[in-house]
Amino acid sequence: MKKIALSLLMAAAVITGCAAPSTKTTKDTKASTSTTAPQTTPSPASTPTAEKIPVATSFNPIDKLVQYIGGDRVQTTMFVPAGVEPHDYEPTPKDMARLKGAKVLFINGFDMEHWVDSSITKQTKLMNLSEGINPIRLADHDKDHDHDKEKDKDKDKDKDHDHDKDHDHDHDHKHGEFDPHIWLGMKELRLMAKNTATALTMVSPQDKTYFEENLAKFNKEADALDQEYLPQFKPFAGKSFVTGHEAFGYLCRNLNLKQQAVEGPFAEGEPTPQKIKALVDHVKAEKISTIFVEELASPKVSETLARETGAKTVQINTLEAEGDLFPTLKDIYQKVLDSFKK
Ligand SMILES: [Zn+2]
Repeated sequence: MKKIALSLLMAAAVITGCAAPSTKTTKDTKASTSTTAPQTTPSPASTPTAEKIPVATSFNPIDKLVQYIGGDRVQTTMFVPAGVEPHDYEPTPKDMARLKGAKVLFINGFDMEHWVDSSITKQTKLMNLSEGINPIRLADHDKDHDHDKEKDKDKDKDKDHDHDKDHDHDHDHKHGEFDPHIWLGMKELRLMAKNTATALTMVSPQDKTYFEENLAKFNKEADALDQEYLPQFKPFAGKSFVTGHEAFGYLCRNLNLKQQAVEGPFAEGEPTPQKIKALVDHVKAEKISTIFVEELASPKVSETLARETGAKTVQINTLEAEGDLFPTLKDIYQKVLDSFKK
């Protein structure tokens, strides 16, 4: 099942997607992108949101990105509900029903959307925003998995990395070989924004200029943040910070930092005692003052870690379930910087 989903993901890459865009809302009217332009109704088949293009997005950062570039030309429907941790999300029939009206579904890729399968790709075109991104390969991505811990009696299966059979929950999700958190790396986020503009232009070619203007605005905001923070991070090159869930791989690659985390990149659950001990040693050795805790992660282990090392916990947001792009990135930058300065 997973294999099918993956190959379909590849096939539906941004560049090849949407060969026959259906843009009945404005295609025939040559309506300008200006919202004040008078609209002639092109067809009685138009939906109530006739002026906007209905698109689906997989989870929060993708939704925010499509809203930014799509502006008032798009109406997004988010698949994973707001405030819900997306890594282990299991779709409900309601989610599937919501997807029905959307011709395209914008996804992050790299296995964030483990729930994408043929029942979705049959009815909805995927726009994979990770297209062209240089991924971080997870060297030993099953080493930190905790799922199998209680299943020691079943060691042979563990060796085969056959999660499907002995996974706690029954759904068909395996973890990818790449770090999926591309939206937290500014370089990667810029490329995702560009991919979004390209994809939206395929859906609504007459709005090309409008999407490009929004992309330019986006890049300007990204530039401003880079200019403000990149010089500030320079003196801390090579430094590490400790967080609850290994979500900052791309941010670290761009800023020349390192992360240590309580949980791996797929938020698999609590770490082994050995891992906790290694983290305690690391925090002490590096004199780390702050243990970051993501908004949706369980703070239990992080709090223990902080107690044992004399560090404090500070909340940080990975955007996975909520938050706006630039304000949240700025907040992350500032908090990481502050932790280095103490
Ligand atoms: Zn994550």
